[in-house]
Amino acid sequence: MIDFHCHLDLYPNPLQLLPIVEQRCKLVVCVTTSPRAWKRTAEYFASAPNVYVALGIHPEIIHAKEGEIELMLEYIEHASCIGEIGIDGSPQNRDSMHLQASVFESILFECEKFGGRILSIHSRRASKDVLHILEKASVDSTPILHWFSGTQSEIQQALELGCWFSINPQMLAGTKGRSLVSIMPLDRMLPETDGPFTTHKGKSYMPWETNLVYKSIAEIKGISLEDCISHIERNSSYILKLIDPSASL
Ligand code: MN
Repeated sequence: MIDFHCHLDLYPNPLQLLPIVEQRCKLVVCVTTSPRAWKRTAEYFASAPNVYVALGIHPEIIHAKEGEIELMLEYIEHASCIGEIGIDGSPQNRDSMHLQASVFESILFECEKFGGRILSIHSRRASKDVLHILEKASVDSTPILHWFSGTQSEIQQALELGCWFSINPQMLAGTKGRSLVSIMPLDRMLPETDGPFTTHKGKSYMPWETNLVYKSIAEIKGISLEDCISHIERNSSYILKLIDPSASL
């Protein structure tokens, strides 16, 4: 299986999960929530060739991680994949939105200095701001909008900006998510779980549990499961080459 956005380091027993991930997943992008966590996690998971640890600073905790912003910018040179980054406009995070936006923009500019990066982007209740900053500050990076919940016209705008969409099982549980997915082109979709934060019947989705994503997309798009899998694997393999030119699925 393939998972373009999960928090492997935040499951209760990440090191015990690693052998299962190696066996059952072709590719996992483990996003992190702070640059210090990135450094530690990258060391822990260094032995797993199919796990890529992305350098991140989560917008929801940015107020508590202000001291790590400089470190975040400094490490970008050494990371091929950046996430989780972005803006969260939920009521409890409104106070830090200005800071979130300015950090997001600085990260994008820094990525440009090194020819662009693969980005896993959070945009809950802030899709308009996220797209505006991407338009202003990102040229050579490859933005992947994770769990996108904006509007249909914002999907068009995102596509024009070269964005991809990573889709998790929880997004596909509601009517809004399904209608957004119905207008996302198949050739810009990637699978994710956002585990351990997405759950089914009280249990976290595991990085190898993306079957439902393929099944639901096939249903929504009216294509066979085989076709859906082959589209998404082709997309995944394209992005993987950008992350690591020597790797293949
Ligand atoms: Mn996440």
